[in-house]
Amino acid sequence: SRSDVLQRHRDAADAVVPERTALYIGGEFTEPAGGETFATTDPTTNQELASVARGRTADVDRAVAAAWDGFETEWSGYDAGDRQRVLLAIADAIEAHADELAQLETLDNGKPISEATIDVHSAAEQFRYFAGIVRENGGETMTDGSRYGQVIAEPYGVVGQVIPWNFPLLMASWKLAPALAAGNCSVLKPAEQTPLSALRLAELIDDIVPDGVVNVVTGFGEEAGEPLTRHSDVRKVAFTGSTAVGKQVMKNAAENVTDVTLELGGKSPVVVFPDVDVSTAVQLVTAAIFYNTGECCEAGSRLFIHEDVADDVLEGLVQAIDGMEIGDPLRDETDLGPKVSREQVDRTIDYLDAARDAGGEFLAGGDRPDDEVLSEGCYVEPTLIEGLDHDHDAVQEEIFGPVLEVFRWDDYETMIELANDVDYGLAGGVITDDLARANEAARDIEAGYIWVNSYHDLAPGLPFGGYKQSGIGRELSADTLDHYQQTKTINLSL
Ligand code: NAD
Repeated sequence: SRSDVLQRHRDAADAVVPERTALYIGGEFTEPAGGETFATTDPTTNQELASVARGRTADVDRAVAAAWDGFETEWSGYDAGDRQRVLLAIADAIEAHADELAQLETLDNGKPISEATIDVHSAAEQFRYFAGIVRENGGETMTDGSRYGQVIAEPYGVVGQVIPWNFPLLMASWKLAPALAAGNCSVLKPAEQTPLSALRLAELIDDIVPDGVVNVVTGFGEEAGEPLTRHSDVRKVAFTGSTAVGKQVMKNAAENVTDVTLELGGKSPVVVFPDVDVSTAVQLVTAAIFYNTGECCEAGSRLFIHEDVADDVLEGLVQAIDGMEIGDPLRDETDLGPKVSREQVDRTIDYLDAARDAGGEFLAGGDRPDDEVLSEGCYVEPTLIEGLDHDHDAVQEEIFGPVLEVFRWDDYETMIELANDVDYGLAGGVITDDLARANEAARDIEAGYIWVNSYHDLAPGLPFGGYKQSGIGRELSADTLDHYQQTKTINLSL
């Protein structure tokens, strides 16, 4: 019942919401200069979870100065082995608090606890991966008899990192692990919807990293994100979020010719070939779109099914949706939790209304669930739409919710043309047992990451990032260390 849900969330909040929700600067929790706060809410209950510091320009300035101080006085003296030990200790601290962090993430974001638990372990793995490769990052030498050249990689010093709300702790780790491994200090700006896990991480690593190496400035995009990304003392900006804001970040960083990497939105195609086993295809397609309530930049949100299997796959999808457990994300059996905020629900519903007006046929879902227990939460039904023109906004734009648009195909070339007919190019999925076809489609899809017979499986070591307007740069790999370092050549005359 609704009161059970409220009670469960109140109890969990009492147990895991961190006490310190001020800014974390120079190794101290500190009030913002303006003394203001804002509320972060639980999207399952729409109750306030905590009041959090509202950072602005003066606070960003203080954090950037503290980061430089940490870099100059201590962190720049840490060699690769020292940094490796710090990164491994951060990973251990995350894992030692895995249950607590997963609950906190579920409360602040609404994601099912089973998925939050995966996020927390993946976050620890980020630190372990970069701890592993940092000792191999030793530069190169060259000599030709007249000169002896050293090509070395140096950290930028202080980097500014801005992250979204869909994987709060995991995105913090994707940013912090390579930045620290490369020898930088960071000022991190979490999303205003989900600031709590980054603040708890700051508490957990306070004794592990020297003061000023990690700073967390909570606040809104325009008030805290923008001054950070246009700061003249920030030497590198890393941003994950929407393409619209990414373009703004790039312009602002250009004022100081600051290096930028961007992980932006997606509208990724999943292609089903006629040879597939229908139940496997259904299971993969379901995961591709509904994992994390569709709030994944890489979500497989456009489905291209071959005519020969289309009816069977669609029937299977409708059944799979019927069988999904939509409910309290703190319960282990929940498959689909609420979206992160009311604003995000409204945004999704606007797309669904527009799709309906344009003659889209709803094979499943299409609205907020009609359910008393869920009525206060930010829920949207898992939705399947067929029959939209491929140039409709709901097909071209990122909905970032549990909404899948379906297209049938029989001609391969025409299908690939449509699959590529979006501004995005983050990811794609190919489902077939025919390896030659899989390879051809994987190469023909214009995107930075293609899964064949899986989806969302991200392994450190395999670079992740976008083509076209989905971004610049790659995370999760040795390339990422390069994005956090600058090359210096020392040419010694012989
Ligand atoms: P958003 O772009 O509105 O916000 C992302 C972050 O940017 C937040 O911390 C926000 O406060 C900050 N921000 C907002 N305006 C800013 C400004 N002018 N200057 C600096 N920072 C600013 O995006 P969102 O709605 O929070 O997140 C959803 C989007 O993120 C989706 O489009 C999704 O695809 C994308 N995303 C991409 C990836 C990826 O790896 N490619 C991962 C997760 C999310």
